Amino acid sequence: MNINLPDSNGFFGEYGGSFIPAELKKVLDEVRNTYEKLKNDESFISELDELNHTYSGRPSPVYHAKRLSEAAGGAEIYLKREDLNHTGAHKINHALGEVLLAKRMGKKKVIAETGAGQHGVALATAASLLGLECDIYMGQIDVMKEAPNVKRMKMLGARVISVSSGTRSLKDAVDEAFKAYLNDPVNQIYCIGSVVGPAPFPEMVRDFQSIIGREAKEQMKNKTGRNPDAVVACVGGGSNAMGIFNAFLDDEDVALYGVEPAGKGLDTPYHAASMEKGRKGIIHGFKCYVLMDEKENILPVYSIASGLDYPGVGPQHCYLRDIKRVVYESATDREAVTAFYALSRMEGIIPALESSHAVAYAVKLARKLGKGKNILVNLSGRGDKDIDFVLEHYPLRDYEPKEKVTEYDEFMSHIMEKEHQ
Ligand SMILES: *Cc1c(COP(=O)(O)O)cnc(C)c1O
Repeated sequence: MNINLPDSNGFFGEYGGSFIPAELKKVLDEVRNTYEKLKNDESFISELDELNHTYSGRPSPVYHAKRLSEAAGGAEIYLKREDLNHTGAHKINHALGEVLLAKRMGKKKVIAETGAGQHGVALATAASLLGLECDIYMGQIDVMKEAPNVKRMKMLGARVISVSSGTRSLKDAVDEAFKAYLNDPVNQIYCIGSVVGPAPFPEMVRDFQSIIGREAKEQMKNKTGRNPDAVVACVGGGSNAMGIFNAFLDDEDVALYGVEPAGKGLDTPYHAASMEKGRKGIIHGFKCYVLMDEKENILPVYSIASGLDYPGVGPQHCYLRDIKRVVYESATDREAVTAFYALSRMEGIIPALESSHAVAYAVKLARKLGKGKNILVNLSGRGDKDIDFVLEHYPLRDYEPKEKVTEYDEFMSHIMEKEHQ
């Protein structure tokens, strides 16, 4: 099913493509041609394999979350531990691929946008490793909000460019980075942070991320003797989700679930559920479901997880939704925080707030599917970056469980009850 997609124009059904100025199209065609050659080139593949293995620490394990499963009271929950990769998330998978490609193309500098700073850190890391310069465009608000990641990028030798136009967030950072790219496409190359943007990015990033699913499929077989009954991943732009889904697209026995950020609720303006609430449109040079008003103005988006608040979504996800291969659900801020605490307290794993959306939905699904079923969750990143924020806004101090509680709801109500007051 996925083998032939995208088509030769970069379309997944009606989504994707490249709606960009001719000048930029020419530049990206060159990237695409190089990628088409390199993806079958043995020395490229083995160099990337070696880095994945010795630098990122792949394969990341699949872990059976027994206590969480028990508390959820239904299906068994398994976690694909992308949080254990070097730099703490799945983004290093495509960053290494993109920077290696840049190097093969003789580029001197990689440039990119970043929202929460996670893609910026991953790219700065790969650029440092492979000896390229790195410029990261970041909305001014995110620069202030994500100070630790800004420092990390600087430590790694990247230049962080604060973008003060528009809403001063991710969308504006993308616009500025593309502008900079057009100024010097010879020495620079754009390295996008998800399965979004004009062709060939959605395909390229998916391919680099698909190592997650390839590993996880084999690991689940080794552990349980079969495919998981369901695979769950959070969806911002959609790269960690495509990465794990890709290996299972043709397996009819596996249900796939993408989880979008419902923020403060889908009936409020404060969410980033592009698939659930968006309409078909163009953003950043590709067609997808976009959160916009009737006049096609792109709406401001919100999620507690900065890595998920993008008004568009990867074109392959839009296609997979339309053909009903993947079901898209959502989790609210509160549900994500609940899962954040639960995984920390029950498994000793502090998940990224992004990944917490997937965990939150997996707990619900575990109950629905019941005993004897297995759910594989892509734990896209670790939550060290989110601890300060969560403790400040959802303080644990007064909410310590007084006695040992093993039921998920009960456990969480002990933690959360005072917050409603
Ligand atoms: C960036 C990020 C995401 C969202 O990006 P996708 O492209 O949707 O995967 C999810 N989880 C973590 C930990 C991230 O850093």
